[in-house]
Formats: sequence, structure tokens, C-alpha cells
Amino acid sequence: MSQLQNYHMTPEEFRRYGRLVIDWIADYYENVESYPVLSQVEPGQIQAMLPLAPPQKGEEFEDILKDVERIIMPGITHWQSPNFFAYFPANTSGPSILGDLLASGLGIQGMLWATSPACTELETRVLDWMADLIALPAKFKSTGSGGGVIQDSASSAVLTALLAARERATSFQFNEQGGTNLTVYTSTQAHSSVEKGVKVAGYGRKNLRLIDVDSNFAMRPDLLKQQIESDIKEGYKPAFVAATIGTTSSNGIDPIRAIGEICQRYGIWLHVDAAMAGTAAILPEYHYLQDGLELADSYAFNPHKWMFTNFDCDCFFVADRETLIQTLSILPEYLRNQATETGAVFDYRDWQIPLGRRFRSLKLWFVLRSYGVEGLQYHIRQHIQLAQEFAHWIEADPRFILVMPPPLNLVCFRHRSGDVFTQRLLKKLNQGGKLYLTHTVLNGLYTLRMSIGQTNTQVHHVAQAWSLIQSAVAELEAEL
Ligand code: PLP
Repeated sequence: MSQLQNYHMTPEEFRRYGRLVIDWIADYYENVESYPVLSQVEPGQIQAMLPLAPPQKGEEFEDILKDVERIIMPGITHWQSPNFFAYFPANTSGPSILGDLLASGLGIQGMLWATSPACTELETRVLDWMADLIALPAKFKSTGSGGGVIQDSASSAVLTALLAARERATSFQFNEQGGTNLTVYTSTQAHSSVEKGVKVAGYGRKNLRLIDVDSNFAMRPDLLKQQIESDIKEGYKPAFVAATIGTTSSNGIDPIRAIGEICQRYGIWLHVDAAMAGTAAILPEYHYLQDGLELADSYAFNPHKWMFTNFDCDCFFVADRETLIQTLSILPEYLRNQATETGAVFDYRDWQIPLGRRFRSLKLWFVLRSYGVEGLQYHIRQHIQLAQEFAHWIEADPRFILVMPPPLNLVCFRHRSGDVFTQRLLKKLNQGGKLYLTHTVLNGLYTLRMSIGQTNTQVHHVAQAWSLIQSAVAELEAEL
């Protein structure tokens, strides 16, 4: 027999290279502000540096790490830069990275309680903590009729909710028989994941109704009610409303209580998408955002946006877990086990679309324990205050229009000279590399979004952004 070969990294090598990687990450965070925030590469530039085939022989770890610097770093947009003001944040933090690393190290697959009881039980407890922390009604906790589960994204959360609503509305016949006259409602400002979920869940896009909004970009309940009543008259069965706390374009906040009352009256599933803004409810002064949630069937928010927790981590809560489980549960022989049979445990595979699942609650637990409620509140409050201050600067400058007073940490504004000027301003700012902003269109007009929520953003970063914006405006005006 030939001599045994072993290509695996030894524990000793792992220790050595692991230290190198941790040092590399710590250095990265120390120097993150020296990179252009938005990657400046052209399409294809990174691929051009990559060989067409993998190496036949294994390479030295140090060489691989060198190529991270050489090939990968130029193609990185630095979401963890405190000068990242684009989209919504996708934050991380020391405790979260370490929790995630530990989850990778343990390498468990938590599809069933039995495949690692700690993965399930920690998740249940941490999600109950989260429910209390953001002042959700008790029915969303595992100690009530519902419970929380970590999904990969808010998109998966709304899709999962759409599936459960579809089954509830058809007495679990859709899964068996297909076909639908079910209708779905959301506002014109809702995230595109609702429309995508409608397509994937088979409701049919023609059955999606986009309800108009008021001057604060919040869904108008009077129009929602009108549309529902007109659909019922025409033989449709209204099944699902997706309301948003903190829309992507403007942070608009739908009136949950008024919408919830309509949903109750017509027996419609109400899902609340608070992907980014949900984190604000950690602050007692923002608990009012949750008003009316006792009328909702499901709620989702992403610690992977604003709550210093690595992507991916969406907390999805349902008021009635049995409906969700009945919708998604399938039990092949090879997954049968005694713990499941007793009915005494949660098997989170039944609460999500894929079977397999990572140990995501570990990083959330690390974040909660390391910051403490107090630490989280401190930083979230700071971000909101910074946004309010930035909005005042915009408002006081006659060259700019503040589109609406920012409800939380997103400031929407435009230059008075119009769309073309505002577009050129954005391009100039992002090419400069010192900050990164993105845009949207509100009321048909090109609008800049200053989203303040990156883990390490402080007042001097926001002040620098404001001074860069002012200089860029002056340069553009000089070019006119
Ligand atoms: N909902 C809202 C309000 C969002 O702003 C976003 C993303 O920005 C999403 C849903 C989608 O989030 P995810 O990437 O977790 O699917």
C-alpha cells in the first residue's frame, strides 16, 4: 500500500495562520479609512488577475494571504469604513466576527435540535431576548404561541411569511393543489423583496397591489382599505399585507396600528418589515415604532444591518409558530429522531426554506453580551443624533432641499439645481473615494441618501462628509 498522504492544515499551522489572519483583520480595521470607500476597479479587472484554473499543487498560506492584498483588496468596497453612508449599513464588530469565527470553527449544521441542541436552544433564548429588547408583544416569543428564528435575510423572512400566509388563507390547500386568487398588498415604497417573494411564492405579480403613500412616504390605510374592498367585490381573497417600518428609500414608517386593524377585520396576514429600522426599537424612546404590532402575524429585522452583527442575520418572529411549521415541515425517514418525535423541541429547519443552517445565534449572543444593552443603546442613539444634526446642516443651507425630516438615521436631500446637478454631485463624491453615498428617487426626483449607521461612524466622519459635499458643490458650481 502507498504511503498515506495528508494535505490538511495541521492544528499547529492553523494556530499560526489563524493569528496571521486575526492580525490582518485588526490591521485592516486600523487602516480602513485609508482605502477609497467605493472600489474603483473596472468590470473584469479582478478576474483578469485570477488564473483560469485552480492550482494543481497546494500553495503556501502566506502566498494566499498576499494575493488577498494584491487581487482582492482593490475590488473591495469598504462597508466597514466609518465613511460608508451608502444603502443601509451591513455592520460587523469585533465580538460578532469572533462569534462567527467560532461558529465556523465548530462547523455544526443546526437543521434539527438533535444535530446540535445548543444551536437551537441558544437561538430560541437569544431571539426571546431580542423580542423583549425591541418591545415586541409577548405572542412573538417562544414562551407564547410564536417565536423567533434567524433567517439569512429579510428577503427570506418575507418569503417565508408569504408562504405561511398563503397556506393559512387556503386552509393548507395551496401546497397540495396550487392555483390562487389571493392578493398581496404593500406600499409603493416597500422593498423589492416583497415583489420578489410574491413571484417566488406563486401569488402572481398581477395579484400584488401597490398602495400609495402620504407626504412622509407612509402607506395610506384609507387606500389600502379601499383596494381590499374592491378586490373582495371582484372575487379575490386578500391574504397578505407587508408594512414597513423604515422603508429603504426614505425610512418612511407605515402606520402599523391602522393597517393592523384593517388586516384583522378582513383576516389578512400582516407582516412587518423593519429590516434596518428595527434596531432603533432597542431605545426606549423609539418603542413607539412598535405601536400596533400586537395586530401583526410576523415581524422581521436585520441585526446584520445596524446592530453590529455580521451578515447574515435576520431575526424573524411569528405570532403563531404552528402555521409556519405546518407550512414548511416535511419529515423524510432519514431525519427522524427521538427528540423530534417527542414534540418537546424546536427543529428550526421547519421554520425556514433551506434544510441546513449555520450557528448564527452565536455571533448575536456575542454581540449582546459584549456590548450589553447599554452599549448597543449608546451607539444607536449616537447614530440617530448624528443624522439629525446632519439634517439640520442641510436644512440651513439654501442650496439644498431636505426631502423630509429624518425619522431615524437616514437623511434624504437634493440640490436645488435639480436632478442633473444632484447626480453629478454624487458621482464626484464617490469618485473622490473619501466617502460613499447612494441615491434614490422620491416624488419623481433624484435624491441623495445619507445613511448614518456604520459601526464606527463618529461626529468627525459626518462633519468631514458635510465638508466634502460642500467643496464638491462649489467645484461643480465653478464648472457651470
Ligand atoms: N427590507 C428593507 C426595508 C430593506 O431596506 C432591505 C435592504 O436594504 C431589505 C428588506 C432586504 O434585506 P435583505 O438583504 O436582508 O434581504
